[in-house]
Amino acid sequence: MFNLILFGPPGAGKGTQSLQVAEKYRLAHISTGDIFRSEIRNETPLGLKVRSIIEKGELVPDELLIDLLRSAMHKYADVKGFIFDGFPRTLRQAADLDNLLAEEGEKVNLTLALEVEDHELITRLLIRAEREGRKDDTREVIANRLNVYQTQTRPLIDFYTQQGKFRAVHGQGTIGEIFGRLCKEIDVAFSNQ
Ligand code: ADP
Repeated sequence: MFNLILFGPPGAGKGTQSLQVAEKYRLAHISTGDIFRSEIRNETPLGLKVRSIIEKGELVPDELLIDLLRSAMHKYADVKGFIFDGFPRTLRQAADLDNLLAEEGEKVNLTLALEVEDHELITRLLIRAEREGRKDDTREVIANRLNVYQTQTRPLIDFYTQQGKFRAVHGQGTIGEIFGRLCKEIDVAFSNQ
């Protein structure tokens, strides 16, 4: 299997790029943000539990992620690999993911980060707020999400760098240009496998 993490701050374009990468490389796309939004829309017990956390821009507690991820992964049989979008977001989640993959004799092969300047992130998220009306895209909540990214998620860069699995690409430009940069890195990782 080839298991890829698409990493980056809120607004970096992980969702857009993940879909294209998933299609080209035939990977199963797992977005924890999408899963939570669907749980909230359907007013499931999990959705009701996480709604206020997400609307404040905080992270859902780690313990709630692992079962969710396991069942999301088990929905796919015989896949060539996964692309994780918005997960892991903490060191604990990264350790949980390693254990989960190890149960299947698998591992994380590559973590690709989209690097985008803060002011560009804020602009993109405010535009998305107008288009999609996401409750966590208000100016105040955006500031909190960026802060949460810096303190809780950014440490994962060191975690994966130490394992030689981290590569960053420039996340500004056209969607096609950025996709091209990601594909280049994935092709290198594939050929080194
Ligand atoms: P973004 O566009 O900010 O990257 P996502 O769509 O990935 O956002 O996630 C939206 C929100 O869902 C996050 O701000 C967080 O509250 C919650 N969430 C998503 N994935 C995780 C995760 N792996 N751990 C904790 N919370 C998560």
